[in-house]
Amino acid sequence: MKTVAIANQKGGVAKTTTAINLAASLCEVGLKVLLVDMDPQGNASTGLGVAPEQRKKTVYDLLIGDARPSEVFTETSTRNLFLIPSTTELSSSDVELYNVSKRSFLLRDTLASTDLRAEDFDFVLIDCPPSLNLLTVNALVAADSVLIPLQTEFFALEGLSQLLLTIREIRQSANPDLRVEGVLLTMYDQRNNLSQQVEQDARATLGEIVYKTAIPRNVRLSEAPSYAVPALTYDSASKGAMAYRAFTQEFLKNNEAGLGRSRA
Ligand code: ADP
Ligand code: MG
Repeated sequence: MKTVAIANQKGGVAKTTTAINLAASLCEVGLKVLLVDMDPQGNASTGLGVAPEQRKKTVYDLLIGDARPSEVFTETSTRNLFLIPSTTELSSSDVELYNVSKRSFLLRDTLASTDLRAEDFDFVLIDCPPSLNLLTVNALVAADSVLIPLQTEFFALEGLSQLLLTIREIRQSANPDLRVEGVLLTMYDQRNNLSQQVEQDARATLGEIVYKTAIPRNVRLSEAPSYAVPALTYDSASKGAMAYRAFTQEFLKNNEAGLGRSRA
């Protein structure tokens, strides 16, 4: 079981879109995946068809120790894709957990529990909120690696140094083995010079940790959540779905090659 946090403190860079469609692509090739929704907005939960009224137990109950993982994770309409949902309740956890000793280790301890290990997931993907708060710290402490979606727009690289600094801090304190899985360029617009410029800058600055595959702007990717399914299901042959499949191949190849990838 490998745990990958999908993080970037900027909102709207395609963390959730990447979490859902990477998860669905991994399932498509026969792997068993657990997606943990760590964002109080619950977009991954909604996008996978688990409506708020169905979220009886959530990641919040896990973090405060009120439930075991097996009581919380739920099936989705995608075969072999399971979800630990979130609700807005999670937004108060920053405050509530502040005084809990080991407050940064709550998700890690949860994912290490035997009843989750028994499920034999191949990958656990953690969809992070758009900030570097305690929830994101929990994700980074629980993860083997961090996958960073980078929207190909101006200023994209600016927030990145803060994230990389946080990753370094987590390595020094709580999770020495944390790796950077890779940087995925998203919402790429081939006709736009700016997209190309940002791509060049990202590749020049970050080198080989940037995936060769870039995810294009594609309306199917943004429509799919309102149908409560991954884009791979909503429009299997769409450019967006195909790009996420290509990216997943690259992701798997890196993992097979044992590239824990860089410690950037
Ligand atoms: P985050 O989780 O980082 O906040 P989202 O995955 O929710 O970002 O994406 C932000 C918005 O952009 C959503 O409306 C989503 O549907 C849309 N979106 C994401 N990726 C693409 C893409 N490649 N093409 C078009 N729209 C996209
Ligand atoms: Mg999101």
